[in-house]
Amino acid sequence: MNLVFLGAPGAGKGTQATRICSKYKIPHISTGDILRANIKAGTPLGVEAKAYIDKGLLVPDEVVIGLVKQRLSEKDCQGGYLLDGFPRTLEQAEALSQFSTIDCAVNIQVDGKLVIKRIAGRRMCKCGESYHISWYNSDKCAKCGSELYQRDDDKEETVKARLDVYNSQTAPLIEFYEKKGALRSVDGSKEMEEVFEQIVRILDDND
Ligand SMILES: [Zn+2]
Repeated sequence: MNLVFLGAPGAGKGTQATRICSKYKIPHISTGDILRANIKAGTPLGVEAKAYIDKGLLVPDEVVIGLVKQRLSEKDCQGGYLLDGFPRTLEQAEALSQFSTIDCAVNIQVDGKLVIKRIAGRRMCKCGESYHISWYNSDKCAKCGSELYQRDDDKEETVKARLDVYNSQTAPLIEFYEKKGALRSVDGSKEMEEVFEQIVRILDDND
């Protein structure tokens, strides 16, 4: 079973992907991990990628695609895999379809307003505790008494901007997998357990 996971920031994609991989015993493939592994091992593609990263540039598509292609040809992917964070663009999806067949693209849908509420309501403490304004009603940490703060990444405008980028990049991907008959959407606004069960049902039906 070859899977692609799609989901907006804040949709809980990472958590669901981890659980699905452990249930179905398939490797969880993320481009970030592949990049780090190749850079560490000093492979030709790793060296190429590092040159871009060191200059503060984005690693170009052809390098990322090359890395994914190489990773998917490894032995542990022969019984299936889950791709997380790839493809991000239509070009990447098209390239992927040249060397592997995706059985199912799981799209974890969430309402943008809900994501903003979820993320923008987070408050952190320097001691490592985190809170949410929907259930925590103080600006001081319950554990250590320090002042709570909001991470820059969690600010409403930042979340909105990330959602906009995500939506504009992903809309064509959704259409791409829909046309191939591989798109399956789940309601990501539900509790984590319920979302997990929705995905399991889809994958078991797909088999
Ligand atoms: Zn604290």
